[in-house]
Amino acid sequence: MLDVLRRIVQEVGGARDLEHALTIIVKRIKQVMAADVCSVYLSDYTLQRHVLMATDGLNPAAVGHVWLTMGEGVVSVVAETAEPLNLDNAPDHPRYRFVAETGEEYYHGFLGVPIIHHRRILGVLVVRQRDSRKFAEDEVAFLVTMAAQLAGAIAHAEASGGVNPVQRAGTSTVAGTILEGLAGAPGVGIGTAFVMYPPADLDAVPDRPPANVDAEIIALKAAVATVQAEIQMLGERIGAHLRAEERALFDAYSLMLNSESLMDAVVERIRAGNWASGALRETINEQARVFEQMEEPYLRERAQDIRDLGRRILVCLQSTGRRSAPPYPERTILVGEEISATMLAEVPREKLVAVVSASGSRSSHVAILARALGVPAVVGATDLPTGRMEGHELVVDGYRGRVFLDPSDVVRNEYMRLAREEAVLVAGLEGLKDLPAETPDGVRIPLYANSGLISDVAPSLTGGAEGIGLYRTEFPFMIRDRFPGEEEQRRIYRQVLEAFAPRPVVLRTLDVGGDKPLSYFPITEDNPFLGWRGIRITLDHPEIFLVQLRAMMRASAGLGNLRLLLPMITQLSEVDEARRLVDRAYQELVSGGENIVMPPLGVMIEVPSAVYQSEQIARRVDFLSIGTNDLTQYLLAVDRNNARVAGLYDALHPAVLCAINQVIEAGHRQGKLVGVCGEMAGDPVAAIALLGMGVDHLSMSVASLPRVKWAIRNIRRDDAKIVLAEVLGMDDAASVRNLLEKTLEDAGLGGLVRAGA
Ligand code: PEP
Ligand code: MG
Repeated sequence: MLDVLRRIVQEVGGARDLEHALTIIVKRIKQVMAADVCSVYLSDYTLQRHVLMATDGLNPAAVGHVWLTMGEGVVSVVAETAEPLNLDNAPDHPRYRFVAETGEEYYHGFLGVPIIHHRRILGVLVVRQRDSRKFAEDEVAFLVTMAAQLAGAIAHAEASGGVNPVQRAGTSTVAGTILEGLAGAPGVGIGTAFVMYPPADLDAVPDRPPANVDAEIIALKAAVATVQAEIQMLGERIGAHLRAEERALFDAYSLMLNSESLMDAVVERIRAGNWASGALRETINEQARVFEQMEEPYLRERAQDIRDLGRRILVCLQSTGRRSAPPYPERTILVGEEISATMLAEVPREKLVAVVSASGSRSSHVAILARALGVPAVVGATDLPTGRMEGHELVVDGYRGRVFLDPSDVVRNEYMRLAREEAVLVAGLEGLKDLPAETPDGVRIPLYANSGLISDVAPSLTGGAEGIGLYRTEFPFMIRDRFPGEEEQRRIYRQVLEAFAPRPVVLRTLDVGGDKPLSYFPITEDNPFLGWRGIRITLDHPEIFLVQLRAMMRASAGLGNLRLLLPMITQLSEVDEARRLVDRAYQELVSGGENIVMPPLGVMIEVPSAVYQSEQIARRVDFLSIGTNDLTQYLLAVDRNNARVAGLYDALHPAVLCAINQVIEAGHRQGKLVGVCGEMAGDPVAAIALLGMGVDHLSMSVASLPRVKWAIRNIRRDDAKIVLAEVLGMDDAASVRNLLEKTLEDAGLGGLVRAGA
C-alpha cells in the first residue's frame, strides 16, 4: 500500500497543473480501491460551493460545472465535520442531494474524506460504489491517508496551476493567486517577475518567449548533437568493459536522443512560443511522466534516463553562452527557487523593486541583503511556481510575506495606495534623521543599526544610526571559501569601527551553525538549532576564537569604540571561559605593544536558560543584548525559518514579553545596560512595549530606524509603562498587537501601523 501511495504522490508531484494532478488522483484511487467512481470536490469559499473538479466514473462533462452549495449534500457533511463519512446507501442520508448531471443515480455506496491542509478544508475526496456497500476500515484508513498525503500536493498544484502556460503571452491568467511565504524585508513591490535559476537544473528553467524562434531551434539541434557525440564517446569508452545488456543502455540513450518524437516535440513547443530551454523542460517532463506511470519497474526507471538526457542537453544549451534572457524589466521582481546574494547583485539597483524566493528565511543572506538595500522581499514561499511566473505581474507584500500573482485590480490598487502612503511616510521621516530618539517626557533611547556586510555600513551612517548595535561577523565568514585570517578580519572590522568612531560598534563573535552554515566547515546534525552552534563552536575551537578576538581588538586600536558580544550563551561557565580567552587575547596584544583598550563585554540573551540566569550573567559582564529572534524561537518551540509554523512565531507572545521584561529588570538590578537587537526592535509596535520595560537601546536594520524613531518621539515613557502593565497580563500575541496598535493610532501614528501591518 505504501508503495502505491508513494507512486501516486510522486505522479501528482510531477503534474503540470492542478487539473492534471486531480485527474491522476481520481484515476489511480478508483483503480486501487476497485471502486466504481472516484471524484474530487474542491471548496470555493468565495462562492460558497464544493465544485466537482475531477472524476473517474461520473459524467466527465460535469467537471467544473457541477457543484454543491456549501451546506448541501453529503459532501458538505464531510467538509463540515472534517471527518470521513462511510454510507452503504447514500440516498438514505437525510442530507443527500441528488445531482442529475453527474449520472449518479446508479450509485449507493459512498465514502467521503476531507482534504485538509494546514487546518483548511481544501475539498472532499469521494469514492462511490454501484452496490450498497459499507467500506471496510482499512479502505477508510487508506483514503484518509491518501487525502492527507495529497493535501500538500494539491495545495502546491493549486498554487502552481494558478498560471496557465497557454495564456502566458501577456493575456490575463487566473487572477489573484496568493502565494504565502515569510516576510523577508519590509515594503511593497509591484512589478514584473524575472526568474533566475541555477545552471543545469531543468525543473527550475522558466517559460520564456523566444527572442528568435529559428535561432532557438538551431541552438537546440546543436545541443542535441553535442550530447549525441558525448553519449557515443562514453559508450565506446566504457563499452569494452560491459556486457551486451549493459551496453544496450547507451544504445537506448542514443535512440532516445535520435527519436523524432523528442526533437519534434521540443521544436513544436518553441514554435508555439517558448524558448529552447523551457520547451525542453516541458517535453522532458512529459515524456518522463509517461514512463513513471508504467507498471513495469524496469520501464519506470527509464524516466530517470530521460531526465538525465534532458539535463545534459540543458547544460549544452546554457554553455553556448547565448544570453537568451530578455533585458531586465523596468520594474524587476527577482524570482527564483533559491536566490543568492550574487544573483541579487546582478540586477541593476534602479530596476529592482522586490525579491521573491522559494527557499530561505528571514535570516538568510538574501533577506538580509534585501533589507540592507531597502528592497521588499518574500522568502520561503515554498509553493512558488517559478517555471511559470516569468513576465507575470506580481505584487510583493514584504510586510506579511505574501505574493499576489496576476493581482486583481482591487488588490493592485490597494497596494499602490499603500506604496504611495509608504513613500509619503518615508519622505516625512527623512526629517527625523538628525533628531535624537527621545520620548516627549525626555527619555533618550539610542537607536543603533544591525549590520554584517560592509555594503550596509554607509546606509546606516546616513540613515541616522547612533552606532552599530549588532555586527554579525559570520557574514564575512560565510561569503568566503575558508576561514578569513587575522589580518583579513582586522581590515574588515577596522572599516566598520572607523566609519562609526567615536560611536559604539558591537562586534558579535562568530555565530555559525544552526541555519548559518559555513561551506568549508560542514556540520551535519539532526537538530542543528539545538546543536553545535555559536559560542559552543568557538569555545571548542579556541584557535578560531582567539584569532577573531585579536583581529577585533587590533582593529579598534586608537579608536576605543569596540564592544564585544557573545552569542548563544546557555551556561555561566561559557561566559567565564569566553572572558578568560578575551583577557588572554588582550594581554597578548598589549604585551606586544598594541595601543588598545579593553573592550566592554556583553552577552546575548537568546535562550530561556539565559533569561533565568540573566542576573548572574549581568554580574559577570558589562551589558546584555536580547536576541529576540532566537529567544522567540526557543521559548515558543517554533523554528524561526519554518514557513509551516510561521503563524505561531510572534515576538509579541506574552511569554516572550515577560521574559524580556525579566531580563531588563535583572540587568538593571546589576546596574548594567540592556538592549534589544532582534528584529523585534525594528517594529514600532513592539518598541512601545520595550520602551515601557525601560530598555536602554535598540538595534535594528537601518530601514526600520525612521519608523521606530518616530514612535519613540511621540509616545511618553510613562504612557508606555501603563500600556505595558496591561499587555503583560494578556492571553495571546494577537490581543497584545491590537492594544499596541491602538496606542500608536491614538497617538496619531496610524501610518506606522498600516505600513507595518
Ligand atoms: C537574534 O537571535 O535575535 C539575533 C539578533 O541574532 P541572529 O538573528 O543573528 O540569530
Ligand atoms: Mg541569534
